[in-house]
Amino acid sequence: MPPATIEALLAWFARNARDLPWRRTRDPYHVLVSEVMLQQTQVERVIPKYHAFLDSFPTLERLARSPTAEVIRLWAGLGYNRRAVNLQRTARVIVEEHGGIFPREVTALRRLPGVGPYTAGAIACFAFEQDVAFLDTNIRRVLRRACLGPDEATSGVSDRELLALAAALAPPGRGWAWNQALIEVGALVCTAANPACPRCPLRPACRAYAARAAADAALIAAVPSPAPRRIAERKAEPYAGSRRWYRGRVIDALRALPPGSALTLARLGPRLKPDYAAEDEAWLRGLVADLDRDGLLVLEGEHVRLP
Ligand code: SF4
Repeated sequence: MPPATIEALLAWFARNARDLPWRRTRDPYHVLVSEVMLQQTQVERVIPKYHAFLDSFPTLERLARSPTAEVIRLWAGLGYNRRAVNLQRTARVIVEEHGGIFPREVTALRRLPGVGPYTAGAIACFAFEQDVAFLDTNIRRVLRRACLGPDEATSGVSDRELLALAAALAPPGRGWAWNQALIEVGALVCTAANPACPRCPLRPACRAYAARAAADAALIAAVPSPAPRRIAERKAEPYAGSRRWYRGRVIDALRALPPGSALTLARLGPRLKPDYAAEDEAWLRGLVADLDRDGLLVLEGEHVRLP
């Protein structure tokens, strides 16, 4: 990517960036909370939960010493409840093993529970302003399209190759703005289904755009009324009725109980499935055993409750 295009993206970000609360802070705890919430939840839903979470758990220490059930209750509406348990585990490890001081380096951050390569890179970059390269869905898509070509031609490109590309492109001393800009252009312009190429700052150097324009031109030359080609769109997995969906329903049922209360399996089953029957019992036991193993609930004989 030519330097002029890198500068164009940074200038576009300066003009168009959304004013998001986690972009106004360099507090690593706040950045961690936002990054964990953003992993599988949309920005609009995260903003109020981010504020509510930090109101209830204003410091790492406060989160570490709070009952896990409180953290899971506050996570309601965000989904993927395991993130709440892992977030608290991270807080406890930092308090107990690092004296409450957040690790700064990616290798140390990676050793924290539930912190993968993306989150470690994001904290090092967005809290400590290090020029670190990392990949999330938006960054992957933008780099692939802009530097390599259309989705259908680049699906086999590995994360290792993309990471090397990201590291080579990041302008020294401006890693924070660069990574935020890649995420932002992926969220607002180079979306999965409908990339808005005409208003994209990367268009002059974009390989996907050039390839698509060439293919469209060839089609127009060959066929009287060609259908425009679109960058491939991924179909969403069905969610309702999936195991993850039922896991969420179990936690919702336990959240609805008064604090400290438990529910028998016999009463939990019909709350998940209106037609719950004896042959569903093995399935239900497997479901709650998994949640127990993940630290999301406590299974005691026939009773389940939040931890
Ligand atoms: S020009 Fe189009 S395909 Fe290329 S990065 Fe921009 S929006 Fe994505």
